[in-house]
Amino acid sequence: AKDSGRNQAVYFSKVLDTEIKQKVRLEHKLKHALSENELSVYLQPQYNATAKKFFWAEALIRWIDKEDGFIPPDKFIGLAEETGLIHEIGLFVLREVCAFISKNEAYLTDLGIEGVAVNLSARQFFAKGFLDEIKQVLVEFSVRPEQLEFELTESMVMENTQHAIEIMHQLRDLGIRLSIDDFGTGYSSLAYLKRFPIHSVKIDRSFIRDIPDDQHDVEIASAIIAMAQKLGLEIIAEGVETQLQSDFLHEQGCSFMQGYFYAKPMPFQNVLELSHSESEQ
Ligand code: C2E
Ligand code: CA
Ligand code: CA
Ligand code: CA
Repeated sequence: AKDSGRNQAVYFSKVLDTEIKQKVRLEHKLKHALSENELSVYLQPQYNATAKKFFWAEALIRWIDKEDGFIPPDKFIGLAEETGLIHEIGLFVLREVCAFISKNEAYLTDLGIEGVAVNLSARQFFAKGFLDEIKQVLVEFSVRPEQLEFELTESMVMENTQHAIEIMHQLRDLGIRLSIDDFGTGYSSLAYLKRFPIHSVKIDRSFIRDIPDDQHDVEIASAIIAMAQKLGLEIIAEGVETQLQSDFLHEQGCSFMQGYFYAKPMPFQNVLELSHSESEQ
C-alpha cells in the first residue's frame, strides 16, 4: 500500500509536470503571438428580432497558431489573466475595435450597427490605470463612448462589489454601456443587480440550448426575461441556434439575440458585407 501510494505520488507529480510544461509553452507562444501580431479580433453581429436587423456586435479574440491551428479563447484567456498578459490582449482588442468603428463609422451607422461590445476580464477592470487607458483610446480613434459596451461577468463584479460598483459608475458616467455576461450562471442576487448601473443582461447560452424542449430552461429563461423587464434592463439571449429558440424568446419579450442562427463570429470586413446584403433585402 505504501508502495502504491508512492507510485501515485510519482504519477501525479508527472501529470503536474506535463501540465506545467504545457502551460509554460502556451504562455511563451501567446507572448510570441502578441508580439508577432498573430491575434485578431472577430465580431459576432447581434440581431434585433423586432426591427429585423443587426444592431450591435460582440468582439471576440481569435488566435490562429501556425502549429496548433485555431486555439479557442477558453484555452488561453485564463492563462492570460494569471500571467497578466490580459492587459496587453485587452488593450489590443479595444484598439482594434475602436479603429474599426472609427474607420467605418458612417457605414456602420447606415447599416444600423450602433456599437461593439467588448469582453472585460477582472484584472483589466480592476487595474489602476484602466479608466485613463479607455479615455485615451477613445480620443485617439475619436470613438464616442456610446459606441462601446463592456461585458462583465457576475463573478467579476461580485468579487469586490463595492469597488466594482464604483468603477461601473465611472464607466457609465463616461457614456460606455455595461452588460452582465453569462447571466444566470453566477451568483449575483437581484438586490445587487438593482444596484449595478448596467444597461443590459445577457442570458447565458446554457439556458438557451435546450429551449423549447427542456421545461426547466424554458422557465428559467422566461423568469430572467421578466425580471430584466421589471428592472428596466435590456435583455439579450446568447447562443441562439434555431428558429424555435428565436420564436420562443421573441414571444417572451426578448428581441435581442446573438447566435449561430443569425450570424457566426466573423472578420471585420465580413460584418460590413453581411449587414450590407441584409439591408438590401
Ligand atoms: P462569451 O463572452 O460568453 O462569448 C460567447 C461565446 O459563444 C463565443 O465563444 C462565441 O463564439 C460563442 N457562440 C456565439 N454564438 C453561439 C452559438 O449559437 N452556439 C454556440 N455553441 N456558441 C456560440 P468564443 O469566441 O470561443 O469565446 C469564449 C469565451 O472567451 C467568451 O465567452 C469570453 O468569455 C472569452 N473571450 C473571448 N474574447 C475575449 C476577449 O477579447 N477578452 C476577454 N477577456 N475574454 C474573451
Ligand atoms: Ca461575452
Ligand atoms: Ca456570454
Ligand atoms: Ca461564457
